[in-house]
Amino acid sequence: MADVLFTNVRIFDGSGDLPYGGEVLVQGNRIARVQRSAGPGARTPPIGGVQLIDGAGAFLMPGMVEAHTHFSWNDQPSLDAILRMPPEEHILWCAQVAKRYLDMGWTSCVGASTAKPRLDVVIRNAIDDGTIVGPRYLAASQEITVPGGLGDTTRPHLPQSEFAFGAVVSGVEEMRRCVRTFVKWGVDSLKINLSGESITGMPSEMSQFTEDEIACCVQEAKAWGKRVAAHARSTWSIKQCVKQGIEVIYHASFTDSEALDLLEAHKTEHFIAPGLAWLINTCHNASHWGLTPEVTRRMGYHRELEAAVESMKALRRRGVRILPGGDYGFAWTPHGTNAKDLEYFVRYVGMSPMEALLSATAWGAPMMKLHRQIGKVHEGYLADLLLVDGDPLADITVLQDKARILAVMKDGEFHRAPPLRAPRSTRWAA
Ligand SMILES: [Zn+2]
Repeated sequence: MADVLFTNVRIFDGSGDLPYGGEVLVQGNRIARVQRSAGPGARTPPIGGVQLIDGAGAFLMPGMVEAHTHFSWNDQPSLDAILRMPPEEHILWCAQVAKRYLDMGWTSCVGASTAKPRLDVVIRNAIDDGTIVGPRYLAASQEITVPGGLGDTTRPHLPQSEFAFGAVVSGVEEMRRCVRTFVKWGVDSLKINLSGESITGMPSEMSQFTEDEIACCVQEAKAWGKRVAAHARSTWSIKQCVKQGIEVIYHASFTDSEALDLLEAHKTEHFIAPGLAWLINTCHNASHWGLTPEVTRRMGYHRELEAAVESMKALRRRGVRILPGGDYGFAWTPHGTNAKDLEYFVRYVGMSPMEALLSATAWGAPMMKLHRQIGKVHEGYLADLLLVDGDPLADITVLQDKARILAVMKDGEFHRAPPLRAPRSTRWAA
């Protein structure tokens, strides 16, 4: 791959500082140099063999990290529609969706559960070995659940595991076997459903699993060096995440003061991804699929949205990391619209655009287990970079527009190169 020098760019480096004019040199798959502009009229001496990209003042920022990704959700209106997709079509779907994330500037995604046992693992491996195009990816298990719980979609006459959206277990030994089996398939993380989800008929405030079963899941996962992530909407389930050491907490809608205190006391050990897009759009933008505001109000989603917003405001005040991503891949939250989460963080949670941008970049690095490797435009970091037409700090919604994301670089290679119109790009002779 050619080395690349971005000149004449405004650099948002992920440190929390305001953007500054300058240039960035990428050599191989790393950022080799980040230099502030020497002032107006200063010109960079040509470097042999380097592709020069004149950014014409565009906004250069780290690639974004999606903290709660389901490649296998197929933009349909129900779990059943996801479940019924045959495996052959399903893996092709996942490959196509993986590319869509990269197209939209998400250079890293954290798998949050998959609809069939090995979809996530196969996609991660295919991205890693270059068979398909996609973001850096951590592969998840199916959602582990209990008989009758969230994700058990079997019928009395169709009890086979193929008819279950999740992996259904009961008791400590079944949990242990389940975790070990997913580890055998090669997952990076285990997903456990600790609470309900109102649309499925099991209210979000209800909890499932015994403490023994949860403890077994966490111990077994950690024994194999794996992470646990939980679907945790209820207050009890959120507390269980802290007490049992479940690193990734999805949703965290219903908190009380004890839950907030626990999360604050352990804030360096946990990541919260609330998935506000799901709540907001289920409440307000799903009428076309029969989920009118009246219906979703009866389900309890409007009350949950209010509770989740209050919980996130409180957690933000307490310095707990809140990350973007969550349950994109339903008909009313299609894949690729994920940057709406940043707008929601500003509009609903009260983050500044700077905080929202940091949550999508610097804060995502440890979530990807790539601390000091991604999330910043710093020397020595992996070259995951976006060139944006506009200023996300002035208007966070520009990141929702593919046309405004001029270039996407992952691991030092352009997934999408900037438009080749002079003088934006010139190749210097060696
Ligand atoms: Zn999810």
